[in-house]
Order: sequence, then C-alpha cells, then structure tokens
Amino acid sequence: MNLIMLGPPGSGKGTQAIRLQESNGLVQLSTGEMLRQAAASGSETGKLVGSIMAAGNLVPDDIMVSMIERRIDQPDCAGGFILDGFPRTIAQAEALDGMLARKARRLDAVIEIAVDDGALVERIAGRFSCADCGAGYHRRFRPTAVEGVCDRCGGTEFIERPDDNEETVKTRLAAYHAQTEPLLPYYRGRGILRSVDGMAGIDAVTAEIRAALGAFAA
Ligand code: ADP
Ligand code: ADP
Ligand code: ZN
Repeated sequence: MNLIMLGPPGSGKGTQAIRLQESNGLVQLSTGEMLRQAAASGSETGKLVGSIMAAGNLVPDDIMVSMIERRIDQPDCAGGFILDGFPRTIAQAEALDGMLARKARRLDAVIEIAVDDGALVERIAGRFSCADCGAGYHRRFRPTAVEGVCDRCGGTEFIERPDDNEETVKTRLAAYHAQTEPLLPYYRGRGILRSVDGMAGIDAVTAEIRAALGAFAA
C-alpha cells in the first residue's frame, strides 16, 4: 500500500505515519527529516535548503522530486511507503504521478488530517523529540512517561526544531494554504482522498485512519 499523509504543519502527519509504519509494515518517508539531514551535512544543497526551511518557505520542486524519487527506488520501499510531507505543491503531485506511472506503481490513498489553524500553533510550540532515537513528543499532549526520559530508548537529551517558532509557523501555514491545500481537490477528484478529524486525540485519529483505510480496501 502506498499512502500520502496530507495536512498542515503540526497536524500529526509524522505521529500517525510512524504508527502506520509499525502496524502495516510500510516505510515512512519524511521529506522534512531528509531535508534536515541534508542541511546538517553542510553540502551546497544542504545550505540552500537549510536557509529556506529556517524561513518557513517551501524548498524548490525539482530538489524535492529528485530526492523522493531516489528514495522510492530503494528496496525497503518495495512493500509500500507513506509519504509524510510530500507532495506539497501541484507540481510535486504531478511529478509523483509521472514517476509512479513509469514504475508501474500507484497511490492507494491520501489521508488528510484536518486541524484548525488555531490549534496548530500550540501543537508546534509544544513539540520536541528525542535526540537519540527521534521519537516525537508534546509537552502537553504527549509527554514522556517519566519526565526527561525517552519512552522508546531511555535517552535523556531532547531537541526542538529551530523552525518551530511562532513567526516561522505563520509563514509555513500561509504556504500550506496557498500551495498545498489545492492538493485536496486534486486527489478528491480521483476518489482516493480520505479526510480524518485531526482535532481528536492521537489514539482516536489513529483509529479513524485505520477505519478509513479499511473502508478503502473493502
Ligand atoms: P511539518 O512537520 O511542520 O509539516 P516538515 O518537517 O514536513 O514540516 O517540513 C519542514 C520544512 O521542510 C518545511 O517547512 C519546508 O521548508 C521543507 N519541506 C518539507 N517537505 C517539503 C516539500 N515536499 N516541498 C517543499 N518543501 C518541503
Ligand atoms: P506534523 O508531522 O504534521 O508536523 P507531528 O506529528 O509532529 O505533526 O505533531 C505535532 C505535535 O503535536 C507533536 O508534538 C505531537 O506529539 C502532537 N500531536 C500529534 N497529533 C496530535 C493530536 N491528535 N492531538 C494532540 N497533539 C498531537
Ligand atoms: Zn529516544
């Protein structure tokens, strides 16, 4: 099964993609993660994407398309993937359609996680992750079981994303509405869009996604 997680920054795409990856044997492909690694590598492309991300703008389509195509071709994606953060523009969606057609693969479903803008700022402001294993948490909505200790790996160091500040969030939300939201009618028209209520709690959203995928398969 090949899926897309679609939703504004902070809507819960990563949180839900990791749960689906664990339960359904799919590989989560987070373009944000790939870009953060590229930025940390210090390469020329890395420097460019790092400054674009810091400002909250979208990285150019050609960079994103070649990044995702190289990743999809790797053997671990043969059993299915979850795109988390891609596509974010109509041009990226069209390029994805083209590359999947050439590889004789297809998209099974696009899951929209719908969250009000007002809730996103709090989601993003409270987000942090384990520096060792990358597990994601939220100060209020998903704290660690033991204060200061990662549930998954026992690590004690945590990081926050530099672009998770109120100023950049505004730019990222504007980019979502202007450039990414047009993907909703694009996929709805093809009959593969499934929208879930992302305002519900994390477990309830997971259940709704599972039900939506079940209904789709039936
Ligand atoms: P969020 O978790 O807020 O949805 P991501 O981690 O997916 O954010 O992405 C972080 C940043 O990386 C984005 O603000 C954007 O600058 C860049 N980025 C990620 N994916 C894409 C993409 N498909 N196209 C353009 N830019 C992207
Ligand atoms: P995205 O990948 O879409 O940017 P994340 O999965 O990183 O979003 O979630 C953003 C933050 O909100 C994280 O701190 C996460 O723990 C928290 N979160 C995710 N889903 C929910 C939810 N349904 N209710 C409350 N908080 C949530
Ligand atoms: Zn950890």
